[in-house]
Amino acid sequence: MNKFEQLGLSESLLKAIKDLGFENPSEVQEKAIPLLLEKDTDMVALAQTGTGKTAAFGFPVIQKIDADNRNTQALILSPTRELCLQITNELKNYSKYEKGINVVAVYGGASITEQARDIKRGAQIIVATPGRMQDMINRGLVNITQINYCILDEADEMLNMGFYEDIVNILSTTPDDKNTWLFSATMPAEVARIGKQFMTNPEEITVGTKNSGSATVSHEFYLVNARDRYEALKRLADANPDIFSVVFCRTKRDTQAIAEKLVEDGYSAAALHGDLSQAQRDGVMKSFRGRQIQMLVATDVAARGIDVDNITHVVNYQLPDEIETYNHRSGRTGRAGKLGTSIVIVTKSELRKISSIERIIKQKFEEKTIPSGIEICEIQLLHLATKIKDTEVDHEIDNYLPAINDVLEGLTKEELIKKMVSVEFNRFINYYKKTRDLSSQSGERRERGDDHAPRENNNGGATRYFVNIGSRDNFDWMTLKDYLKETLDLGRDDVFKVDVKEGFSFFNTDPEHTDKVMEVLNNVQLEGRRINVEISKNDGGGRRDHNGRSSGGGFGGRSSAPRREGSSDRAPRREGSGGGFRSDRNSAPREGGFRSERSSSAPRREGGSSERPARRSESFGDSPRPRRPRRD
Ligand code: ADP
Ligand code: MG
Repeated sequence: MNKFEQLGLSESLLKAIKDLGFENPSEVQEKAIPLLLEKDTDMVALAQTGTGKTAAFGFPVIQKIDADNRNTQALILSPTRELCLQITNELKNYSKYEKGINVVAVYGGASITEQARDIKRGAQIIVATPGRMQDMINRGLVNITQINYCILDEADEMLNMGFYEDIVNILSTTPDDKNTWLFSATMPAEVARIGKQFMTNPEEITVGTKNSGSATVSHEFYLVNARDRYEALKRLADANPDIFSVVFCRTKRDTQAIAEKLVEDGYSAAALHGDLSQAQRDGVMKSFRGRQIQMLVATDVAARGIDVDNITHVVNYQLPDEIETYNHRSGRTGRAGKLGTSIVIVTKSELRKISSIERIIKQKFEEKTIPSGIEICEIQLLHLATKIKDTEVDHEIDNYLPAINDVLEGLTKEELIKKMVSVEFNRFINYYKKTRDLSSQSGERRERGDDHAPRENNNGGATRYFVNIGSRDNFDWMTLKDYLKETLDLGRDDVFKVDVKEGFSFFNTDPEHTDKVMEVLNNVQLEGRRINVEISKNDGGGRRDHNGRSSGGGFGGRSSAPRREGSSDRAPRREGSGGGFRSDRNSAPREGGFRSERSSSAPRREGGSSERPARRSESFGDSPRPRRPRRD
């Protein structure tokens, strides 16, 4: 008997829960559901984003309404159209084995008459944004005078968005004896006020520490010069080939501009903000959910509460004005027990905000350095190798093999491998060998107690390695670090700058341990697989001498080579969906690769925006390629 079965839920709900794949109730569900089922009570529930609040009110409300009665019995208010649709969708899933329950979404930007018609057909549950709801009430298109339940979801955000008046007005047309359930991530004064005004002796539930970041999210910041913000964003994307992210900007204008630039530069990105038409927003969300978009550039309001699974990174392209907003942003990742990373691109003048956020989220940021060109090259190369290994062969290809074999005849396996990876890799190396370091040189970086933080005092010292184990082997940086320390019998601070990618990882040690690392680790098996460790070319972006020059050359050299300082600084074009070896599932318009040598001498503009790379380049793989079908 699993725990859902102990909460008092009906058979049909339990069946739906099984279909959803929920195994155990989350904490807020465990606390809220029995209370709400047992008695008619008001409730205030505080729980962070991603803790499963929708089901915490959704299951009880579905169980409690009378499906035989066509009147509207429950009203759920939520801040945005996206959330409204999301909740509606969830409720429909929850109630799929209940007969006769209708859930209707009511939000601005879509036909009000159609929504009114749907309601008229009998909607026991209405999920609405406050503005449109008020509108419908004013026009007499909806009757909520007999509801038994009113749920305020993401109450703090609704109030943030200025819906106080609307909410008060809406609530005042509902019966006094209904129950009000308020769900919120935080409890600012305004929310408390609503609570006082409209509730009697509410049950109070608080889950986890208030306001603290989720344990599944790690927080990183990258210090850059203001003009390098955009370049930094692109490098971070290049250093994370499988990135699936929400990039937050402060204004609609920036959101639009950054998304456009990313698309121009060949990334699969799109903007989400309030100035888009509803159809556009729907389209964007659909592509994002379908993973045709890797970088969703969004305003806080538009992205609030968006629940898309498996977001790998939240990028704070700019920090929000309100620190609290940071919590909402980072809550987009690390959901449902998955690990996620919240990245802040920050300038020196904003550094103190990082400390304020740390105090609020009660978690430390890790300071990281924008990956060097070499590091990105390595990551891309290893990613490519991993991808080749993982690719499932479609036997359609068999028809073409004789012809392909003809062309490739005479090449040895070694030559073939070299050439294959070079197809992609040459572009990166060609591009990135001209790039410079983007890290803002700050003598003012804070001392950090965190032992994972880069070391201050080993200029030119550390050895960086890459190793063929990563997040797919269930490592994150902490567990990999522990594993390495244990396996290598090293001390607490001897392994540092652990960077875990999907199929591989990087880490540093001081050079004195290099021989040991190579010897021991190359002879270890992990679940039957031989571990392979090699010395990486880059130094992991440590705090070293930023003015040194790299000795250049290929991989496998000592990372003690100082970092290069590039002459050119154009950002790379992302290699296109066609030519690329990242997940080729993008609908964003793109062409061939990003390499375009000629633009490296073009003047930079201020404000972090590189001029546009040439659409076409002269090197390999230039012609527009057919889009590949989506992976998986
Ligand atoms: P919140 O509203 O608190 O931000 P959501 O209700 O949107 O969180 O839930 C976050 C995610 O967790 C959703 O993808 C949801 O389907 C999933 N989820 C909710 N409850 C459970 C559960 N008991 N087990 C597994 N996943 C769950
Ligand atoms: Mg929610």
